[in-house]
Amino acid sequence: MNMISSPEIIDEIFRYDVPLQRYTSFRTGGTAEIFVEPGDMSELKKVLQFCKDERKKVFIFGNGTNLLVNDNGVKGVVIRLGGVNFRKIERNEKFVSAGAGVYLPQLIRKTALCGLGGLEVLVGIPGTVGGAVMMNAGGKYGDISETISSLTTMTFDGKITKHNREDVEFAYRGCNLSKQVVVKVEFALKESRKEEVLEKMSKIYKEKKEKQPLSTFSAGSIFKNTQHYKAAELIEKANLKGQKVGGAIVSEKHANFIVNTGNATSADILELIKIIKETIKKKYNVSLEQEIQIW
Ligand SMILES: Cc1cc2nc3c(=O)[nH]c(=O)nc-3n(C[C@H](O)[C@H](O)[C@H](O)COP(=O)(O)OP(=O)(O)OC[C@H]3O[C@@H](n4cnc5c(N)ncnc54)[C@H](O)[C@@H]3O)c2cc1C
Repeated sequence: MNMISSPEIIDEIFRYDVPLQRYTSFRTGGTAEIFVEPGDMSELKKVLQFCKDERKKVFIFGNGTNLLVNDNGVKGVVIRLGGVNFRKIERNEKFVSAGAGVYLPQLIRKTALCGLGGLEVLVGIPGTVGGAVMMNAGGKYGDISETISSLTTMTFDGKITKHNREDVEFAYRGCNLSKQVVVKVEFALKESRKEEVLEKMSKIYKEKKEKQPLSTFSAGSIFKNTQHYKAAELIEKANLKGQKVGGAIVSEKHANFIVNTGNATSADILELIKIIKETIKKKYNVSLEQEIQIW
C-alpha cells in the first residue's frame, strides 16, 4: 500500500493493514486500512484532522467486545484510545474520572476496593469505559449511565465539549453521541462499605457466569430485548440453540450469544444472525434488532 503524505506525527503512529481479528472478542474480521492509537488529546485531534483532510472514514474502537468486523475489513482509520493518557483513573472523594481507554473491569475492581459503590453492577462486561458509555452498557442491575455525572467528548472536527449527564440522551444500549469520541468520563459513586460492594459484585458475577458463556469467543448479547419479549427466550423457544453455520454456533448456555468455536468467519456469524432473525419473524412475527455493532 502507498503511504499517504501526512504530518510527521501521523507517520510515526499509523499502522497499515492491521488485522482486527486479534482485537475483537469474536476473534473474526478483516484488516483495518489504517490503525492508530493516539497517545493524548493533541494526537487524537491531529488524527481526526487527517481523516477530515483525506476524507477517511473514522471508526472508534474500544475493546472490540460488541463488534462484528466484516471479513473484508474496514476502509478508513480505526482509532483506539490505547495511550496512557486515555487510561488514567483519578479520584476526588466520591467522584472518579476515567479515561475512555480504561478497561471497565479494572475500574469496577478499583472503585470497589476503595469502598465506592455503583459500578459493581457492571461486573463481567469486558469493554472499555468509552465503549460502555456509547453502548450504555448494563444489565438487570443497572446501566452505566446511572453513575455518570459528566463526560468529555471530542467531535470528529476536533471540538472538545464537557457534557453534564442530563445533556446526554441515554437509551437501552445506546446514546446520542454520534460522530464524537468519548475521551473521559466522570462518575458520581456512593461511599459504601468495601466488603458490601465486593460481595454484591461477586454475587452478580457468579449469576452471570452460570447463565452466560463468558470465557468463549463472543460479543455478548447479539440482539436487544424487545418491549415485550426477551431475545434469548424467543431464540430458545424456536429451538435455535446449537444451530450452526461454519464455525459459529448459537450457544447452548445462553441463546442470545453466538460463539466462535475456533474457525468461524464473520460471514458465518452474519449468516447465523440472518437465520435467527428470519426464524423469529416467521414463527412469532417479532423483528429482532441487533445490539452488536457491525463494521
Ligand atoms: C462475554 C461478554 C459479556 C458481555 N456482557 C454484557 C452485558 O452484560 N451488558 C452489556 O451491555 N454488554 C455486554 N457485553 C457487550 C460489550 O462488552 C459492551 O457493549 C461494552 O460496553 C463494549 O465496549 P467496548 O470497549 O468493547 O466497545 P467496542 O465493542 O469496541 O465498540 C462498541 C461501540 O462503541 C463505539 N466506541 C467505543 N469506544 C468509543 C469511544 N471512546 N468513543 C466513541 N465511540 C466509542 C464503537 O465505535 C462501537 O460503535 C458483553 C460482551 C461480552 C464479550
